[in-house]
Amino acid sequence: ARWTVDDGWTGGEVVPFAPISLSPAAAVFHYAQEIFEGLKAFRHADGSVWTFRPEKNAERLQRSARRLALPELSTEDFLASLTAQVSADEPWVPAAGGEDSLYIRPFMFASEAFLGVRSAHQVDYYVITSPAGAYFPRGVQPLVVWVSDSYARAGAGGTGAAKCGGNYASSLLGKKEAAEHGADEVLFLDSETHTSIDELSGMNVMAITKDGRILTPELTGAILEGVTRDSILQLARDRGLEPAEQKMSMDWVTENIASGEITEMFACGTAAVINPIGEFRSEKGSWTIGDGGSGAVTLQLREELTGIQQGSVEDRHGWLHKLA
Ligand code: PMP
Repeated sequence: ARWTVDDGWTGGEVVPFAPISLSPAAAVFHYAQEIFEGLKAFRHADGSVWTFRPEKNAERLQRSARRLALPELSTEDFLASLTAQVSADEPWVPAAGGEDSLYIRPFMFASEAFLGVRSAHQVDYYVITSPAGAYFPRGVQPLVVWVSDSYARAGAGGTGAAKCGGNYASSLLGKKEAAEHGADEVLFLDSETHTSIDELSGMNVMAITKDGRILTPELTGAILEGVTRDSILQLARDRGLEPAEQKMSMDWVTENIASGEITEMFACGTAAVINPIGEFRSEKGSWTIGDGGSGAVTLQLREELTGIQQGSVEDRHGWLHKLA
């Protein structure tokens, strides 16, 4: 689906999937004025197609737009764009009863051609989709996570809280460094002191303690406000786990892993939903969490959240939105 803005959004029609023609001087190529979102659509047992909390993605796209000096798309137009595209792609939505989904990628970029540094007046917004298999086709696999001392993902006052392409460009080298150390993922620390944990390259991070608390870094402006993060904090509250959003230094985390105070840790985001963390590695050493496997509370929260998304667990909070 394609929309353009010049003086207010126009278009909104579904067009065939095809290359986009842009001037080599289009602002997005030079100044990275681009933002995006990521959601999944699931088929339920009765054949209908649903997505999860898209209003949260609409609001985040609006916040990202403000930060990147792009025009905001209303929640109503955002939801209409998802309905239009997913209705057109309905045959591609996988069968009900599993974690297979149709991944939805809305994105907005500056298409105006000019070479000066200013916000563009001409902007395009598209939605594309792709069928996505289960994140863990062979059962949930705990992550080995490298703690990056060299790089930060985003700085205070920067674009960390926005979902913009540039943030992902800046996290690629950290991911490469992680792979060189045999790790699956990278954990970024805050850019100012390099002591407190921020998030992974595409997931938020949480810890569960022996005394039944669930801890996650507070939203500092350098962390992406994950829809999954918010949903897990709510499900945790429902279960009587006491959630706390707080600054967590990596030293504090490793001490509490070593003492057994932290019993489970996991990463969370739309793609994996919840991915247990089995081990942290850094220049200073390595720390195995619990027995290095998938924690019981982690797996229960994952079951519940994936169940709500797939329509097999009651949607107590009214999180589902019908698309087709
Ligand atoms: N942090 C980053 C940097 C991400 O890219 C994502 C994925 N959108 C998340 C956290 C998790 O956000 P969500 O739960 O909304 O997918």
